[in-house]
Amino acid sequence: MTNAEVHPEIVVIGAGLVGCGVTYQLARRGRRVLLLERRNIASGATGRCGGMVMKIDGRDTRPAEIAKRWRFVSENDRMLDAFPEELEADIGLWRRGSLDIACRDEEMDQLQAIWRMQKTELGDEEIQLLDARALHALSPVLSERCKGARYRPSDGCLDPFQLTHALVRKACELGAAVRTWCPVREIVTEAGRVAGVRTDAGLIPCDAVVNATNGWAASLTPELPVVPLRALAVITEPAPALPALTFEAELSMKIVYGCTQTRRGNILVGGPPEKPATMTEQFDETVSRRELAFNSSVLTEFFPGLARLNVIRAWSGAMGNTPDGMPCVGRVSSCEGLYVAAGYPNGMSYAPVTARLLAELIAEGDSSIPLDALDPNRFAGISYTWPERYDYTVLAEYLDRAGQPAGNRREARLRREVLE
Ligand SMILES: Cc1cc2nc3c(=O)[nH]c(=O)nc-3n(C[C@H](O)[C@H](O)[C@H](O)COP(=O)(O)OP(=O)(O)OC[C@H]3O[C@@H](n4cnc5c(N)ncnc54)[C@H](O)[C@@H]3O)c2cc1C
Repeated sequence: MTNAEVHPEIVVIGAGLVGCGVTYQLARRGRRVLLLERRNIASGATGRCGGMVMKIDGRDTRPAEIAKRWRFVSENDRMLDAFPEELEADIGLWRRGSLDIACRDEEMDQLQAIWRMQKTELGDEEIQLLDARALHALSPVLSERCKGARYRPSDGCLDPFQLTHALVRKACELGAAVRTWCPVREIVTEAGRVAGVRTDAGLIPCDAVVNATNGWAASLTPELPVVPLRALAVITEPAPALPALTFEAELSMKIVYGCTQTRRGNILVGGPPEKPATMTEQFDETVSRRELAFNSSVLTEFFPGLARLNVIRAWSGAMGNTPDGMPCVGRVSSCEGLYVAAGYPNGMSYAPVTARLLAELIAEGDSSIPLDALDPNRFAGISYTWPERYDYTVLAEYLDRAGQPAGNRREARLRREVLE
């Protein structure tokens, strides 16, 4: 047994992209770190995700909010480029552009307004607005129902398994220890500070704990307003490489679909569950026949010419969401030595950079990019009335009712009551 396994300084809980990233970054900084995972590496949202890397997804109309995100996602992007050499591994990164597609004429006005705001108020020189002609010239396989799009050429996709396993491999080379099939039952505290974690094999004492369990985060740290949100995916047999095939689009009823193509050629469509579900049901990893049929039919809607392509697999999984759609990353103020990095609805654009910033904070006392916008304590004193049954659409309705501008559509911005 390694020193990190017997006497860890820091225990990281959850071996998704975030937990593996934090473990690697802490090991790089010479810390004795033990990573505990209740199942296997990348068995949560990470291994079920589409791998789409979209720096600014959704249709947020607030420049200040986008600017906040930009600092993180642009550094994340730089790190993704550096990883193949740093980790000595292929991470499946394929920068082939991303599209935010309008399927209705009215949406084009919305896209145009956002595009103009991005260019003029944020100085975003890369973002382009494509009308229907330009869109179909770029990606001729898309159906005629696609009316136009916002286009960012430097976005794309990566392979979440390759990246996560590369991080774990490097972390272990640097002295970190990993234990899989080891659920943490409790974060044990004494006199207001972390004393260790309780597993089925007993207490593992340590000085600090990082809760990186994403959708499950509130089960170990109940004060976190992180809720699970179930999503599905279907994937086809390989097709020839299709240009600009990472996109988001709204179909009927404000349902958002994400689509990408892996480097092997498989086309992956991510979509919503069949109906709103309770918080417990969000963790359901089975796929009903109706869900399979519905999500597969989206492929034919977007690519009528590819209707004969076979769907070869389908799955579902839960990601974590927070009230403002941004992850919680930093110290938990109620307990000395307790850190969190959870609540990631779009981890490919945030996980590597926030994992590094959190490791800097733990190991060096400060982070090279301020983590204020992601401070887990930003929700302190606010109680949330989560809907009993929910999905993307229900959450968006909450947004509308609260009279707030629709930001990132993956975000769970809910009605909130400030506790006096
Ligand atoms: C269908 C689907 C499609 C998606 N598509 C995209 C996409 O295209 N692009 C994008 O950026 N994001 C996408 N996402 C979201 C993305 O998957 C997440 O943002 C990202 O994987 C978060 O990584 P994580 O490490 O925080 O969480 P996870 O990968 O969920 O890791 C958390 C880990 O904690 C473990 N765990 C939980 N409780 C315990 C415990 N008590 N003890 C020990 N271990 C525990 C879990 O088993 C899990 O392995 C998608 C998600 C889904 C479900």
